[in-house]
Amino acid sequence: MKQYKGKQNQKDTCRQSIALIQQGSIRYCTSACLCGIPCRYDGRANTVEILKKAYEKGQVLPLCPEVLGGLSTPRAPAEIKGAGSKIKVYNSENCDVTVAFVKGAEIALQKAAAWGEKIVVLKSKSPSCGLGVIYDGTFTGTLVSGNGVAAQAFLDAGYCVLTEKDLVDSI
Ligand code: SF4
Repeated sequence: MKQYKGKQNQKDTCRQSIALIQQGSIRYCTSACLCGIPCRYDGRANTVEILKKAYEKGQVLPLCPEVLGGLSTPRAPAEIKGAGSKIKVYNSENCDVTVAFVKGAEIALQKAAAWGEKIVVLKSKSPSCGLGVIYDGTFTGTLVSGNGVAAQAFLDAGYCVLTEKDLVDSI
């Protein structure tokens, strides 16, 4: 699997998207847990009110790449390990879950392509959805620069990729 570290989002090109999201005038995709769907590894959600309301109005397509890749909820937490072209995703039980993460990212991209604008709001720091900063693979709460597997797939496909923090910080 390719290395995801270091590639940054073009946030300036996304500023207009933030305004459109706040106006509720576009359809876009988001991490399912941000809409209030309890799909996190621990069976909880990361609800962000503006995204939950947009979901309830049918403006948002919620996607959970880890569930789409075949992982169950709840599940062991996972982090990206390694460097260079050899990075992998392992869960806290030291099982290699890379295949499920890559498959989930591919399915999320396919679903997003059939939905609306090339805009996605993803959950920060996640090994799937994190943008710019993720945990370092040691399960010690240490952060490093890098993107989650699905976030990188969306960037590579030319999406405007935002995090929930971009929305909250802009209010
Ligand atoms: S994979 Fe993304 S959508 Fe699913 S629980 Fe993790 S952060 Fe949320």
